[in-house]
Amino acid sequence: MKSVLTVKDLQASVEDKAILKGLNLEIKQGEVHAIMGPNGSGKSTLAYTLMGHPKYSVEDGEVWFKGQNVLDLSPDERAHLGLFLAFQYPVSIPGLTLANFLRTAVAAVQGEKVGGNGNGNGKPAMDLKAFRKRLGEKMDLLQMDQSFARRYLNEGFSGGEKKRAEILQMAMLEPEIAILDETDSGLDIDALRIVANGVNALAGPKMGVLIITHYQRLLNYIKPDFVHVMAGGQIVDSGGPELALQLESDGYDRYLHGSETE
Ligand code: ADP
Ligand code: MG
Repeated sequence: MKSVLTVKDLQASVEDKAILKGLNLEIKQGEVHAIMGPNGSGKSTLAYTLMGHPKYSVEDGEVWFKGQNVLDLSPDERAHLGLFLAFQYPVSIPGLTLANFLRTAVAAVQGEKVGGNGNGNGKPAMDLKAFRKRLGEKMDLLQMDQSFARRYLNEGFSGGEKKRAEILQMAMLEPEIAILDETDSGLDIDALRIVANGVNALAGPKMGVLIITHYQRLLNYIKPDFVHVMAGGQIVDSGGPELALQLESDGYDRYLHGSETE
């Protein structure tokens, strides 16, 4: 059976300011969804709220995944359950290689996942040899140079390299639903291309993806099954890839009746 992430009437605020105002969304394992919307529409707030970031308070609504109320879970419990929420912390850790970081992340998320009951009776952490083999395979799949994994985490990484590290983490964790927020910063065409290539390589019947972007030419790089438009803290339109094409030519104007833009 496919896992489904269901978001019902989600309302969330940041620093007492209401941002998400009744958001509904359903993502099934195996589907690629894109949320597009102008700056300030609440896209990142949605990603952070789904991730369980402490700064974002849920005021109302529900989020369900595999029979669990996601909003009751800590971020690491959400990861255990099979959600991947790309962390965009630009922390750099000199002395910690990307490979070692990934090994720790995989052990933390998957160590007890398969057949586990949370009491440590599940599958033990992958041994080093198996881990290295899988890392090598994933890097080949993503056409990444093997030397990349030997670099220190985020140290001196360009914006594109940070994206690459994020995608590699997604590849290694093999989530059922991955949520990727493309921050609306200047360099995002390159970043989006890296993310899109990764998503295209990794998406399949076992992985659902929600890619969040304000970049309207998304379809040049990725083929989502569903496109949603977000404005004023709600999903205001949903459709297929043709909706992204329409946004490319028309922009967001027709969705903005007096709501905030950049
Ligand atoms: P988007 O990702 O669509 O550009 P955001 O979710 O980042 O939109 O922001 C939505 C609104 O929430 C904006 O008005 C923004 O100023 C506000 N906001 C977001 N994060 C914070 C924060 N950490 N502190 C205060 N205001 C925030
Ligand atoms: Mg954002």
